[in-house]
Amino acid sequence: MTTTPAPATCPPPSSRDAQPSTSVTSDKPLRLMHVPKPRKSSAEAARSTVRKKARVMEEVRDRVSGGDPGVLLREELRRVPRDELRSMLHQLKFDQVVIPSGHQLEAKVKIGLNYNQLGKLRSWLKMYNISMESERLTRRAARERLTAYDMHAETLPFCVKGAKKDGSDPTKVQLLPCAYISPVGAAIFDYLEKCQESECLTWHGGKIPQDEIWVKVGGDHGGGSFKLTFQLLNRDHPNSRQNTAVFSIFEAKDSRENLMLAIGRYAQELGDLQGSKWRAKDGKEHTMRVFGTGDYAFLCLWYGLSGASAVHPCLWCDITKMEMNNPESEDRSVNTTRFLTYTHLCLLLFAFPDKAIKDFMSYYRSNVPNGTVPIKMHMLEDHVVPCIRRWGFGLGFMAEQGVEHVHALFNSLARPTCTIPDPVARLKSTLTSHLIGVCPTNTIG
Ligand SMILES: [Zn+2]
Repeated sequence: MTTTPAPATCPPPSSRDAQPSTSVTSDKPLRLMHVPKPRKSSAEAARSTVRKKARVMEEVRDRVSGGDPGVLLREELRRVPRDELRSMLHQLKFDQVVIPSGHQLEAKVKIGLNYNQLGKLRSWLKMYNISMESERLTRRAARERLTAYDMHAETLPFCVKGAKKDGSDPTKVQLLPCAYISPVGAAIFDYLEKCQESECLTWHGGKIPQDEIWVKVGGDHGGGSFKLTFQLLNRDHPNSRQNTAVFSIFEAKDSRENLMLAIGRYAQELGDLQGSKWRAKDGKEHTMRVFGTGDYAFLCLWYGLSGASAVHPCLWCDITKMEMNNPESEDRSVNTTRFLTYTHLCLLLFAFPDKAIKDFMSYYRSNVPNGTVPIKMHMLEDHVVPCIRRWGFGLGFMAEQGVEHVHALFNSLARPTCTIPDPVARLKSTLTSHLIGVCPTNTIG
């Protein structure tokens, strides 16, 4: 029995815009479509006619590509000469790059530009079809990031030591700028919420209890100013510069009087923060735990010790210098709510873990009978290993290295603000730039 294939059929002239018909000619279907014959070229035709032709082409492309016209269109564009394609995209204004809102503010801080320089950059980029948001929007974005707390700046009467040690240049009181934010508790909670929004909170695999948030507060003098910072430890790389937020800065040395004057206001706030609750978006409550960090000199000032030459020089216990030389004689009461962070101690601990520390100290005492046991050795002997076992982290985790990093950062942040004549406004502007730069919702790392 033979089968005669059905004859191919054409659509009647009256149905030009009808759907294409399908005819079976052999084993494959034959599709017939109406392609209108142009009376004018597309360049001369009316806009509506060109749009109509484009719709026909869309239909054809969809059919020919088997339902994936995008792939076919990309291939067609590849065949267009590059210059012609660039010209077409320019005419369509598709070659314009628009920098998203908020990114310009981050770039301003990271690159270190002031608004005047940013305006010049905006004009220059416009020539290359790169569009940036207006200065008004950038300023508004900057204000929106700092709504959780107030920024203050003022001059305070700081003690400035004379340069000469012979007494001819005595200590004097001088009005110097100080910039700070208040309340710091609100700033820390705001930072925490932004971290949660950015999904960068971590409990380090359970080393930090799931119902706790750890915050490290530390200070250091460097680059001509003292900076008081906080770092959220529930983040990867907690000591990074990006995770170090300065909340108070003053351009004077960190003497006891100056610290009392400039940062004494935070004593009550930080005390209240310890043990307070923070509620996450999922409704779970977390207890805040605050740690102090800094170099030995700063922590001695903080905790009211005289320093390494004091009768009781240790930050953890009441051991005397005499007792440090004889480990059998003293009654050591360890205060584990504080950390002392020493890079040197980290290195020593790496070299002499646990039992090796005891062997080392025994060897030292027997072979250096007249040698004293300095404070660092005492801490290594009595406090470092218990501290690490208590908290589950090495000393590097609690190190003050992040505070050291911000000195160089502030030097670079101060460059674009150096044109501000008022030193108080200048310091406030620098601190503002820094706080914008360390905002956890920033997209530029
Ligand atoms: Zn001690």
